[in-house]
Amino acid sequence: MKFTTLLSKLSLLVLVLCLSCNSEKKEAPSTKNYVKEIHSFANPNESVIKHLDLNINVDFDSETINGIATYDIENTNAKEIILDTKFLEIDQVTADGATTEFSLGEFNEQLGQPLHIKISNDTKQIAVTYKTTNKTEALQWLNAQQTADKDHPFLFTQGQAILTRTWIPIQDSPQIRITYDATVKVPSELMAVMSAKNPTQKTTDGRYSFKMEQPIPPYLMALAVGDIVYKPISERTGVYAEKTLIDKAHYEFGDMEKMVVAAEQLYGDYDWDQFDVIVLPPSFPFGGMENPRLTFATPTIIAGDRSLTSLIAHELAHSWSGNLVTNATWNDFWLNEGFTVYFEIRIMEALYGKDRANMIALISRQDLDEELEGFENEPEATKLKLDLEGKNPDDGMNSIAYDKGYLFLRTLEETVGRDTFDAFLKSYFETNAFSTVTTEQFVAYLKSNLLEPNAVTFNLDEWIYQPGVPSNQAIITSDKFTNAENTLKTFLESDTIDTSLTTDWTTLEWVHFIRNFPETMTSEAMAKLDKAFDLSHATNSHIAMVWFEQAINHDYHGNGVDETIESFLTTVGRRWYVNTLFKAFKRNDRVADALAIYKKSRQNYHSVTANTIDELLDYKP
Ligand SMILES: [Zn+2]
Repeated sequence: MKFTTLLSKLSLLVLVLCLSCNSEKKEAPSTKNYVKEIHSFANPNESVIKHLDLNINVDFDSETINGIATYDIENTNAKEIILDTKFLEIDQVTADGATTEFSLGEFNEQLGQPLHIKISNDTKQIAVTYKTTNKTEALQWLNAQQTADKDHPFLFTQGQAILTRTWIPIQDSPQIRITYDATVKVPSELMAVMSAKNPTQKTTDGRYSFKMEQPIPPYLMALAVGDIVYKPISERTGVYAEKTLIDKAHYEFGDMEKMVVAAEQLYGDYDWDQFDVIVLPPSFPFGGMENPRLTFATPTIIAGDRSLTSLIAHELAHSWSGNLVTNATWNDFWLNEGFTVYFEIRIMEALYGKDRANMIALISRQDLDEELEGFENEPEATKLKLDLEGKNPDDGMNSIAYDKGYLFLRTLEETVGRDTFDAFLKSYFETNAFSTVTTEQFVAYLKSNLLEPNAVTFNLDEWIYQPGVPSNQAIITSDKFTNAENTLKTFLESDTIDTSLTTDWTTLEWVHFIRNFPETMTSEAMAKLDKAFDLSHATNSHIAMVWFEQAINHDYHGNGVDETIESFLTTVGRRWYVNTLFKAFKRNDRVADALAIYKKSRQNYHSVTANTIDELLDYKP
């Protein structure tokens, strides 16, 4: 799309949004200019879904969801509408209430099957009666033993990137935005919550109604069902968790309202009314998932000292970058994540100061270096703008989008100055609210609204379309990390550790200290540190993870660390942690040890994590 057409589209969009400012419900922008989408069968330029009314029953006995998905559609003379499905059983389809013809196309390993539905020019509504199967990848059904309270089963969904089609037939492209209503029936002892206006108490009959009035892309459809309770933090923030975790979670996320205020001061109003977090069982495959109004989070960030809550700042930041302004395709994923890491670190700086922000930024920088090293023979994968044709979008969900994206934006900020950059970002979010952006549209917007007006030249093409990191990158330093490095150096030279030097260390300094162990570090030296700090039994999950990685790297087996690694891997399903440790086993020629653990732990992982580890260990289930 040329920039002139983009501009007129954007001003039209602003007009449309302003016209509807007074009404409660926000309209999804009406556009016929959807760009080519390689990860969906839908043809939204011909016929597109606008609103979903979902009516489902959650059956824990058969581990299936069944019900009816009814869509209001917009149609431009098309004879059919195509939805994405994967591993779904389709029973019946109607168009404006009358049974209509439908067919499922050929199955594709990544994308599933297109559901072709016959419609006529004036069809306004279609309804699909369907059932999920035991192959459904978005859902994880947990038995009582896999929860914190161990009394009741639990279910959660994970839609990103293209898994929503495995529990709802839908046009599963981030370019398509829908509003939705839902009625969900669950066993009466459980509560259901969604990425929508949520209940705060259980109903007596297990029937729950939901409303999402702001248009969202399908990957943000989310549902969790369990024996959970709610505890508010402020009027618009609060936590859901199982009973044994609720007070800990409530304390851990106590700064949530302050985070929302800081975020609003940076880049404008929070547009989703409510910001709650649900703490899921430990098998949740991500740190967090930014489902609108209700972030899904791993319990591994409950450290007891609020030290891992930058993850909440990250998911909150997605309320602007990702949920409000969405990557148009998964090739543009860095627009979601790079901006979010940048925003996250700015929120952390506003709340806790520059020292903490710089430590987070430097860890991001180190993660990027590790990722670049891993992609040494695959430089194409280190471009910000990806080409995922024929690949699963999951393949692009790595540190490049997050940390190279961050470094790019930080470098831009340092080039143009913070005030100018902040004003630009604020206008970018406002202008593109409830819309999607391709990398090319962003580049055009950046040139016209930041670089040209300020007469700044910047090597955009090199940053976005070339592999690796350009030489004009921002240099990030941290005195606290230098101090941790010096402590390590003194320890290695003197073979003694002065424990008083570490008493005021935060999690980030510990992580940095441990990650910096040199290759020549001996297992005797590790034993000495373990004796002083009992790191093999660290209760902070991030510290534990990096320590376990070093134990594997340095062939260290003291203080019961092999047992704690195994128990960590069989309890926690967070992909980043699990993948880091299995990769370390593989790197150190211990695939047999890895497989011995994996055969036991795999059943506790969500498909997102299991798929990654299957591939890593070449495991055929
Ligand atoms: Zn993110």
